[in-house]
Order: sequence, then C-alpha cells, then structure tokens
Amino acid sequence: MAQLDIRRAAYVGALLVAGLTACQTVQTTAPGAVGVDRKQQMLVSEAEVERAAARAYAQQVDAARAKGALNSDAKLAARVRAIAGRLIPQTSVFRPDARSWDWQVNVENSDQLNAYCMPGGKIMVYSGLVHKLSLTDDELAAVIGHEMAHALREHSREQESEADIIGLELMARAGYDPRAAPGLWRKMAKVQNGGAPPQFLSTHPSGATRIAELEAYIPKVMPLYRASKARASQNAAPKTSRQADTSPAKR
Ligand SMILES: [Zn+2]
Repeated sequence: MAQLDIRRAAYVGALLVAGLTACQTVQTTAPGAVGVDRKQQMLVSEAEVERAAARAYAQQVDAARAKGALNSDAKLAARVRAIAGRLIPQTSVFRPDARSWDWQVNVENSDQLNAYCMPGGKIMVYSGLVHKLSLTDDELAAVIGHEMAHALREHSREQESEADIIGLELMARAGYDPRAAPGLWRKMAKVQNGGAPPQFLSTHPSGATRIAELEAYIPKVMPLYRASKARASQNAAPKTSRQADTSPAKR
C-alpha cells in the first residue's frame, strides 16, 4: 500500500505540476542482455516525476527520522547500502543517465514487509522485509534490483515481469547469484499463504508464473554473474602470490 500510494502520489503530483502535457513516446532504457525493448508512453517529463518523487521521499525519510526509525539498525543500513552500491553502477546498461541520479538509500526500522525505489533513485527498505523473510544478500539484491528496475523504467505497478527480468540482470551484473531470485518469491509466497498478506505482496503477487518466468531467464544472465564473480576474484587475488608466480627466484 505505502509504496503504491507514494509512487502514485509522486506521479499524480508530477502530472499536476506539468499540467498534463501531451503523451510522448520515448525510449528511456536500453534493452540489456535480457532484451527489454519497449517504448513507453510518458505523460509528464521525467524531470517532473523525479522532482515529485524526491519531495515524497524526503517526507518519508523525515517521518521515519521523527520516529527514531531511520537507519536505527546501523548494521542493516550498512548492509543494504553496500548491496545497493553494487547494483547502482549496473543501471547504466539499461539507462545511461541513471548513474548520475542523486541515489539515496535508507532503511526504516519497521515490521512492514516492504521496499521501494522511487523515480530518480530513492530507495527505502523496511527492516521487516529483511528480518521476517531472513533474506540473504542475494535475495536482498533481488528485491532491490527489482525495485530499481521500476524506477529505471518509470513504471506503474503493472509491469511486474519486466521489473523482474531487469532486476535479474542488475543483480547478476553486480555479482549476486540470480538463482536466488525465485527463492525470494517462494519465501514471499509462504508468507502470503501463512496469513494476512503484507503490503509488498498486495502489489507483488507471488505466483507460479512469476517464478517460472524468472527461472526461464536465469540462463541468460548466468554468464554476466560468472563474469562478475571472475572479475571480483581477480581483484581479490593477493598481489604477492601473482608476483611470485611471474618473477623468477632472486638470489
Ligand atoms: Zn514490482
């Protein structure tokens, strides 16, 4: 609910500001390895949407701070920021301008199972989502990547499967195992079946179709994941051993 309302409020606010300019067909994103290639109708300029989103986000951040709930779990906030920090540079594959967005990443301490990324790169993760689902870093990367995809594409909530596959590529490129994504949605489904559906699931129905579609795309992004892991392990290799391998023994 919250995320939907915020997104809608930002969008409606922007519509009002822009005075409902004519529909334009624009291509804001590139297809990436998963091959997303679709023009979309934009009712307002991106700048207007981003300005409205930034205002709505600032309100959320202020409200959380007033409750003492903003990044109050410093360890979790650092973890979420580290994951987002690896995902953000990957966004340029889909959208070159996104790297220069004023990205903000915060954690609200709350029982809610929720997370969102507003247009312009304003991310909020609720601690309840991480704790109640015992999310691993890979699963958390799947959630954040999915939400970032909505922001990259300036989505309304209808384009779930597109956000899933863009998110999948973002996480693979950032070195998070894309095979964790279906597991995330299975965890969601379990919560869904276990009682009152949390807010996130009201906008993210966790069905078998979604999981099957993710699984179908995993082979496409596995090479990106492996390449990212290979780069990371190369960088992590201790220099001394490499020197020892290449330089002949000195006397
Ligand atoms: Zn979504």
